[in-house]
Amino acid sequence: MKHEFLLKFLNATSNVLDIIIPGLCANCGKEAYNSKVLCDYCSTSIIIRKSAQKIGNNLLFAATNYQDSAARNLIKTMKYDCVLKAGTPLAEIIIKHLDISGFKKILPKDKKVFIVPVPIHFMKKWRRGFNQSEILANIIGNSLNIPVVKALKRRMYTPPQSHITDDKIRLLNIKKCFILSRKSVIIPPKSVIIILDDIVSSGGTIKEAARTIKPLHPSQIIFVSALSR
Ligand SMILES: [Zn+2]
Repeated sequence: MKHEFLLKFLNATSNVLDIIIPGLCANCGKEAYNSKVLCDYCSTSIIIRKSAQKIGNNLLFAATNYQDSAARNLIKTMKYDCVLKAGTPLAEIIIKHLDISGFKKILPKDKKVFIVPVPIHFMKKWRRGFNQSEILANIIGNSLNIPVVKALKRRMYTPPQSHITDDKIRLLNIKKCFILSRKSVIIPPKSVIIILDDIVSSGGTIKEAARTIKPLHPSQIIFVSALSR
């Protein structure tokens, strides 16, 4: 996508500038060195969960709590200020969480595993230039050696879930908004599918993604995110 290249170029340019003039921490506003989005203090302040949560019958591996301001500001900086490099520390906290919470132990050795990022509508992707969940999925997939398949497509443009406070309306907002993409045929039956989103609030979005992916007959669906309630 042209947009993503342009953003990568602008982000790279800002990295060069950071060497001359240090950037400001996206959380506390103090100087952040070495082209980092957060200062050292704020990045070490993020409390990473040591265990998984449950959403219905599925496990959710969410790196940290939604109340964590440093992690929340990382996501905001990435999504709304289009700072792609914020994806790296976000992916790192997810990888750390997966490492300490027994994620690898629950993966069956005899099954194929795939990461499926939660898609955003193509209009939103065009405007933002990237899908944050895809960026996180690619970094995590690379690190854990798990293939990433964009098996889902978003067919409806829905208001952001974060703008809706009522859980019932949230569910209606997201209902039937995904479909399987052509790439979904890559995933054979009985695979383990990891659905990855940046934020899980009521769980409506990832549950709907799981419901859409069921015709692929996965043996297990696991949810992974950076933040959750
Ligand atoms: Zn800071």
